[in-house]
Amino acid sequence: MSSDSTPAGRCGENMRFFVIALLVSSATFLSLNHSQAATRKPVSQHPAAPVSGMVVSTHPLYLIAQAVTKGIETPILLLPPNQSGHDVQLHPADRQRLKQANFVLWFGAQYEAPLAAVLKNQANAIALFDLKAFKRLPLRNVQGQPFANSLDPHLWLEPANAVGIAYAIAAVRSRQFPQYASRYQHNTQAFGQRLMAQANRYHSSLARPYWAYHDAYHYLERSLSLTFKGSLTVEHDLPPTIRQLAWLQQQRPQQKNGTIKPMCLLAEGHADPATLKRLQPIQVQTIDEIMSGQQDFVVGWQELAQDIVACTRT
Ligand SMILES: [Zn+2]
Repeated sequence: MSSDSTPAGRCGENMRFFVIALLVSSATFLSLNHSQAATRKPVSQHPAAPVSGMVVSTHPLYLIAQAVTKGIETPILLLPPNQSGHDVQLHPADRQRLKQANFVLWFGAQYEAPLAAVLKNQANAIALFDLKAFKRLPLRNVQGQPFANSLDPHLWLEPANAVGIAYAIAAVRSRQFPQYASRYQHNTQAFGQRLMAQANRYHSSLARPYWAYHDAYHYLERSLSLTFKGSLTVEHDLPPTIRQLAWLQQQRPQQKNGTIKPMCLLAEGHADPATLKRLQPIQVQTIDEIMSGQQDFVVGWQELAQDIVACTRT
């Protein structure tokens, strides 16, 4: 498919509106989609040819995009799979790829800050945080109190949001390539069913208390019945204070008979041994929030869920 059949300029505001409309109502999606398909000429003379040119910013988006576009196209991951949105490093070649893509999907400035300056005026790009959609949660201080007007950027960890992202991708690509609309739709439905089936397995009537090294797992609390008991530090690169470690120890849940169970600590990296010593008894579970070693979003999410549930059980 020639790239001039899908100029980047055709995206922009139009596309943004379309995605918003879609996320408000799936019925809107179906009717818009059918009228699009009926009124637009096919963009390709070779319907079997794979389309290309979608660039996604970070690894969790890549995994979702891969599920939606399976058998049709291969999305391009901008950053290395182990680079999270917290530590984006852009090279000149990356800027070039962002310009040439016929669709760029990223989370937004609150997660991938360095991309904001590059993508701000790029009509082919959509920031998911800009869409009036998704379950949004605030960031919290070390004692669990929400910061006003904040957005926890780890939105993809909520299964309903991951499915919403999948539908947003399907909506945009179906509009750009109507001849593949039913296949995008089929892939997206299959992804949603697989993920929700997993997500529904972990509810518990007993709350599972946990500490976070920094507050990054809020979006898993609903599906995994987690209760946040505070974090060690407000930013993952700031060391915890002795005062906060003492506060956590004072607040930790006790059993009815007065015994203290090891508390589950979810951490992105390795916490230093001196810190952990002050929080004994403790069970540490490392969490890879961007699922960097995974090839499949549903499998990655399920492994996170299993690790966390096992950690809170001890
Ligand atoms: Zn994070």
